[in-house]
Amino acid sequence: VLPPVKGQIVFDDVEFAYEEGHPILQNFQLRLPCNQTTALVGSSGSGKSTIAYLIARLYDVQRGDIYIDSYPLTEVTVKSLRQQMGIVSQDVILLNGTIRENIAYGRPQATEDEIKAAAHAANAHEFISAFPMGYDTPIGERGVKLSGGQKQRLSIARAFLTNPRILILDEATAALDTESEQHIQHALSVLLPGRTCLVIAHRLSTIQNADQIVVLEHGQIVELGNHENL
Ligand code: ATP
Ligand code: MG
Repeated sequence: VLPPVKGQIVFDDVEFAYEEGHPILQNFQLRLPCNQTTALVGSSGSGKSTIAYLIARLYDVQRGDIYIDSYPLTEVTVKSLRQQMGIVSQDVILLNGTIRENIAYGRPQATEDEIKAAAHAANAHEFISAFPMGYDTPIGERGVKLSGGQKQRLSIARAFLTNPRILILDEATAALDTESEQHIQHALSVLLPGRTCLVIAHRLSTIQNADQIVVLEHGQIVELGNHENL
């Protein structure tokens, strides 16, 4: 079981391949400093999502190891790892349930006040309240269809509620309308500080605000720095 961590993540000489395929990562080294935001950029297929999946242990590496503080990921339970980790993307809001259930997914015992506070922080309260059924509105296949920006904000609300040490953010590639964009931008500027964040970044503003920028090509880091020196 993983004890509460500070949240540094280190890829130490990692090799990884999917199934029988050729290696996606080889001799891969990367450090995500504690409480800093690392933006991951690179062309499609360069391995960005793969790196995120490995941190969440959706797959295990074939060689080397990934450390969270001093703990190798392979020696802790997946459950205890994910309890300290949040994932923000448009795809994680998939449950057929109510908006409330979706926000409280990682913390079903959360109180109504906590859920609303998280929705406020994510700039989601306003659009939720505009539905006739409010937080009881069913979403997903059998409920209302949410826009990409709305799904992203629910996902951000979920992260505020669970308050994880480590946050993985998979930014939407699709352009959002300006208002959604501003809402999300503001919510993230509150959510990200004080945690270790890995952002698969598509927006220039995220890249500019990151502490560290990693440029990936074919599973290799081709540039590493910050917005001033890249
Ligand atoms: P994008 O910007 O399009 O999301 P990405 O940088 O996230 O791309 P990955 O999804 O990490 O790229 O993919 C890296 C490589 O791994 C690609 O060659 C891809 O085809 C391969 N790959 C990704 N997922 C799988 C999988 N589940 N099984 C086999 N190969 C995969
Ligand atoms: Mg990807």
